[in-house]
Amino acid sequence: MRAVDDGGVTGDLRHRDARYGTDEQRSRWLPGLADGSEIMAFAITEADAGSNSHRITTTASRDGSDWVLNGNKTFISGIESAQNILVVARTEDARTGTLKPVLMVVPVDSDGLDSARIEMDLMLPESQWSLFFDDLRLPGDALVGEEDAAISQLFAGLNPERIMASAAALGQARFALDRACAYAKERSVWRGEPIGTHQGVAHPLAQSYIDVELAKLMMQKAATLYDSGDDVGAGAAANIAKYAAAEAVAVAVDRAIQTHGGNGLTVEYGLAAMLGNSRLSRVAPVSREMILNFVAQHNLGLPKSY
Ligand SMILES: Cc1cc2nc3c(=O)[nH]c(=O)nc-3n(C[C@H](O)[C@H](O)[C@H](O)COP(=O)(O)OP(=O)(O)OC[C@H]3O[C@@H](n4cnc5c(N)ncnc54)[C@H](O)[C@@H]3O)c2cc1C
Repeated sequence: MRAVDDGGVTGDLRHRDARYGTDEQRSRWLPGLADGSEIMAFAITEADAGSNSHRITTTASRDGSDWVLNGNKTFISGIESAQNILVVARTEDARTGTLKPVLMVVPVDSDGLDSARIEMDLMLPESQWSLFFDDLRLPGDALVGEEDAAISQLFAGLNPERIMASAAALGQARFALDRACAYAKERSVWRGEPIGTHQGVAHPLAQSYIDVELAKLMMQKAATLYDSGDDVGAGAAANIAKYAAAEAVAVAVDRAIQTHGGNGLTVEYGLAAMLGNSRLSRVAPVSREMILNFVAQHNLGLPKSY
């Protein structure tokens, strides 16, 4: 739950360290991450790469037994409460010279790390940050897991992040629907019957309830597949669940506002303030369009479009 509360900040690393870290890394990181006494942010997004994470340029170079990190990240959540950041960087493959991804644990108080808060128009518990790495020096054991396995480590870790994002979206959708139903049972403007009597009010809420229940079922399927170790099956299900949950919350919040009439836009009822957050799941941690690309390619066998 802590991971969900933190917008997925810690849960993702907990997964990656648990599955891929060395024994030493597991005993160093997992207890604190599990009990919430330590928080680790996760940083993959770069301004010039965006959805195309294959284009990231943050580079980790070997210097003796150390690593030296250079580059930048953007939209990184929760730096203000994290002690460390799991940074996705690239190293140069000694054999081929091509760059390949690696995962590095970077303490937030490192020399060579600069950060700038991004002003967001969202109500979130954590802030978003741009990060700048300038010859940031790390010990050899900052590397999580194996240098050569980083790509599979990285992709396997995206599934629980998407499942958690689904849970967070569905929680917001349920909250908005509960508010809407409570109001629709109370508010009366005609002959004394509550507005929820009118199907123009009740049916959209019933549709949203169905959307939420269906998305929840897919989220549970994704979680079950993930728990069983089926990363490929979990990948498709987690993407579909995240898509369905994101659509469900965006529509549910809009309908909850509509049910409240003018009150839906007041500070007192707190629903208009949810609008930005209700759109967030359509963008992060992966956009709805990139999920549609995934499903078109992997579930339907259509040609890759990008
Ligand atoms: C509140 C918040 C918290 C975040 N937290 C983190 C974090 O902790 N760590 C982290 O690493 N990142 C984080 N992110 C970044 C998030 O993962 C990215 O914003 C997201 O992946 C989209 O990337 P982008 O914003 O660069 O959009 P872009 O890649 O610029 O995309 C812009 C639009 O173009 C569409 N698009 C792009 N390519 C295609 C294509 N091939 N086909 C169809 N449509 C396409 C996208 O779907 C989108 O609608 C966060 C973002 C937000 C808003």
